Amino acid sequence: MTEPVLTIVVPCYNEEAVLKDTISQLQDLLVKMIEDSIVDENSKILFVDDGSKDKTWSIIEKASLQFNYVRGLKLSRNVGHQNALLAGLFSAKDVSDCVISIDADLQDDISVIPLFIEKFIEGNEIVYGVRNRRDSDTFFKRKSAELFYSVMKKMGVDLIFNHADFRLMSKRAIEELERFDEANLFLRGIIPLIGFPSAVVHYDRKKRMAGETKYPLKKMIAFAFDGISSFSVTPIRLVLFIGMVSFFVSLLFGAYFLFLKFTGHTATGWTSLITSIWLIGGLQLIAIGLVGEYIGKVYKETKRRPKFIVEYDSFAIQKTISARQLQMKEDELYSIVSSKIPESN
Ligand code: UDP
Ligand code: MG
Repeated sequence: MTEPVLTIVVPCYNEEAVLKDTISQLQDLLVKMIEDSIVDENSKILFVDDGSKDKTWSIIEKASLQFNYVRGLKLSRNVGHQNALLAGLFSAKDVSDCVISIDADLQDDISVIPLFIEKFIEGNEIVYGVRNRRDSDTFFKRKSAELFYSVMKKMGVDLIFNHADFRLMSKRAIEELERFDEANLFLRGIIPLIGFPSAVVHYDRKKRMAGETKYPLKKMIAFAFDGISSFSVTPIRLVLFIGMVSFFVSLLFGAYFLFLKFTGHTATGWTSLITSIWLIGGLQLIAIGLVGEYIGKVYKETKRRPKFIVEYDSFAIQKTISARQLQMKEDELYSIVSSKIPESN
């Protein structure tokens, strides 16, 4: 097998503090991998500028003129990490056999990239980079991330634990990703849905080289909420469940309150008031939950996710053969018919 053409996609938002360093490190790595015949010489590094307000784009532009391996893609405004990443993946896939995505701050260890390629050559369509330890992150970031994974799991979203967006995807996997039409693409949740043989590579996550995190607490919460709400209808179910519980509790309490009334332990009016509060509250929640169930269905429909993805179709050969036979039969028919038509002169 000849070496695969690799594109490394790097989303960048206000990264002037780290970018020069990142460019030179990634370039050194790529040159070495080309020399070692790990990847094809047409491999590239694609920097996606996600509407930065600082000098990020001018650095990328200059580098792309100066270095053969560097390319740039500038988005018209800030669309967020996930969308910037997608822009890069879709743009890179046409010219690559495989694409690796990595953050601009190089917190992820680039020295495992050759290992990604090795796994790809072994036949994996997706290779996930998974952090060994999170020593370099703050206590808060570590704990909040752990909470995030466990909440997501409870909500029925299967994520790869401790995997962010450092991964390799084959051209084919990206093409399948394109079939997911939804506007809110939560990549970490979607990519495992693509399936195909995949592998995991472990690495140690480092500290940000320079500059500040672009994911402060506010964005992190928004990101987590986005992940849950674009994957799971569990919160809606929860409303229905609470409504039902409250309804049954109201029945029990109703009986109890009546008992109190007849044994003469209550003030007048209290029994009917408290029972109706519980009853109506429960009924309202059930009603909201029911409406929610339908909204949940609509929400799933509007996503128009592919219902399946074919990995291998041994029927394909037969299909082309029968298509050819069909064609032959038509030709035969045509010759019979045309032979019967008397030649006009
Ligand atoms: N990023 C982006 N658009 C944004 C926010 C972030 O392209 O709106 C990029 C950023 O430049 C970096 C990556 O996403 O390459 C991850 O951001 P960061 O390292 O700040 O996140 P953290 O590692 O702190 O979670
Ligand atoms: Mg980072």
